[in-house]
Amino acid sequence: MKVYKFGGASVKNAEGVRNLKEIVAHAGDDLMVVISAMGKTTNALERLVEALSKHDEQTAENEWLALLDSHVHTAMQLGLRPNEDIRFPMMPEYDHTCSYDHNYDQIVSLGEIMSTQIVAVFLLKSGIPTEWWNMPKLLRTDATYREAQVDMLTSAQVIRAGWDRPNRPKVVVAQGFIGGTADGYRTTLGREGSDYTAALMGNFLDAESVTIWKDVPGILNADPRLVANTVKIDRLTYYDAVELAYSGAQVIHPKTIRPLENKSIPLYVKPFGDYTAPGSVIAAEADPINVPVYIWRTNQVLITLRAKDFSFVLEESLTHIFNIIHQNRLKVSLIQSSAVTISVCVDNSRFVQPAIEQLKEAYRVVWNKGLSLLTIRGTSHEILQREQEGRDIMLSQITRRTAKLVIKD
Ligand code: ASP
Ligand code: MG
Repeated sequence: MKVYKFGGASVKNAEGVRNLKEIVAHAGDDLMVVISAMGKTTNALERLVEALSKHDEQTAENEWLALLDSHVHTAMQLGLRPNEDIRFPMMPEYDHTCSYDHNYDQIVSLGEIMSTQIVAVFLLKSGIPTEWWNMPKLLRTDATYREAQVDMLTSAQVIRAGWDRPNRPKVVVAQGFIGGTADGYRTTLGREGSDYTAALMGNFLDAESVTIWKDVPGILNADPRLVANTVKIDRLTYYDAVELAYSGAQVIHPKTIRPLENKSIPLYVKPFGDYTAPGSVIAAEADPINVPVYIWRTNQVLITLRAKDFSFVLEESLTHIFNIIHQNRLKVSLIQSSAVTISVCVDNSRFVQPAIEQLKEAYRVVWNKGLSLLTIRGTSHEILQREQEGRDIMLSQITRRTAKLVIKD
């Protein structure tokens, strides 16, 4: 069996869904198809939750109607009859007795529920034996809403049992990004988490391979929107892939690699528009990457700490500092230290300010927002000179092959 994952851009409209069907129809194998929400649905649902939380019913309703309209439109273009072939959800409600994050997960998960229903019914109507799976009942997680941790053992058991059923159709369509708690609430795994779901499915079902279908020819050495003359990397190792994903390369979610590496399952990244193209493959072995790789991670905050009592931060306070960082769910992209200071670069998020306030209790804290982290793997003296020129560099970390520059936007 194989796992195919299709992101939001690949299923953003009826044409995308038809193309998905072509790819699925040509696969030959039994398929687990993992799908994200259509287009920018998740962003729209986030706005909806935000509006509901502030009792702004009008904005919420407008968002919902626009969203519903585009899903109904897509379904109809695919020849499906709303309310007969597909039952769309009602406008979600916000439970003000529960946390924001709890509400977020109950509502934002509707994007994947809707997209998978449309795709599953369409495949079935196109003559492909297909089954729709409801992941909140199958992928068991804890109740860390918006960043739920998967219970690997329970999920593997349940999902394997479902897959190994004697009369299972050849194709299963399942939501990426969402799961559920033991007491029946929906959870989400963190933004862009569908790749991770696909990797977990590959791991649980001992897939021959996992393929992520994207609107790129494969894994490139840089973002073509930012750098001219990009080249495709045909083959890379799990190790390189993790480093790339962690540095901020948008191709795959950083959590995707581990479940696959653990079972030596190759991960293909292939262009959605041309299913015969080879794309890129991530596997245990590959030649060293022989082009410099540029990765931009934007919206960074550089936080520098110094102990108020001038103690040696590194020796005495590291655990304390990183506990605070961890508790506040900050995503660290770089660490640098001197005798009495430590600097960490983190992704900007709603968690940053509370963390800073907490750190201020014991440290002198200075921070800068509006930064980008440029990682260059396979760097050289010339490249470094060129990239530093004319830029306001706040911090740099340079080893023989890799350079990390924190740059003021
Ligand atoms: N739909 C979710 C998001 O946009 C998950 C995903 O696309 O992977 O974050
Ligand atoms: Mg998405």
